Amino acid sequence: MSKERLISRLRNIPDYPVKGVQFKDVTSWFMNPDDLKEIVDSLYEKYKDKGITKVCGIESRGFIVGSILAYKLNAGFIPIRKPGKLPFEKVSVEYEKEYGQDRLEMHKDAICPNDVVLIHDDLLATGGTLFASCDLVKMFKPKRIYVNCIIELTNFQIRDKFPADCPIDCIIEIDEFEGVN
Ligand code: AMP
Repeated sequence: MSKERLISRLRNIPDYPVKGVQFKDVTSWFMNPDDLKEIVDSLYEKYKDKGITKVCGIESRGFIVGSILAYKLNAGFIPIRKPGKLPFEKVSVEYEKEYGQDRLEMHKDAICPNDVVLIHDDLLATGGTLFASCDLVKMFKPKRIYVNCIIELTNFQIRDKFPADCPIDCIIEIDEFEGVN
């Protein structure tokens, strides 16, 4: 995989959705068949021998590559959703965001104790979303949990704070402000 080429093709939107954020727009990759294939194939190679039975994608950008990966790994796909979106009985977890609190939800029958779970999102920044997702998935007591993002924003220095029972891997490491004037 050519990380440099992918990084050069990632669209940056300054001050979106709020001032000061350099938003990494992964749709600039997903619309290109070569980039999408490179990302999915690279993740597939990392996880193909781990016995993954469920991929949990985080709303909403985690749904895109998460579901393609689930298909390739011959695993099920589970959505981790924002409050009020899931129709069936749910389990949920509250977590602190930069401003105020938020909640993530899953259907209560989404995971069994025999499952090996891969939690997937597009990007790791402060880690709040993924830490909460790990707490949520742990409630089901699956056999193993793996965590994965396409991009790690290295300026947050959060990767090492993940617990040993939720090993994390990211394929592209960038500083949020690199190359931005
Ligand atoms: P966090 O919980 O701070 O790690 O934020 C991760 C979530 O917020 C992911 O679902 C990302 O899609 C989104 N996000 C946070 N910061 C950015 C950014 N600079 N560019 C794109 N997405 C971001």
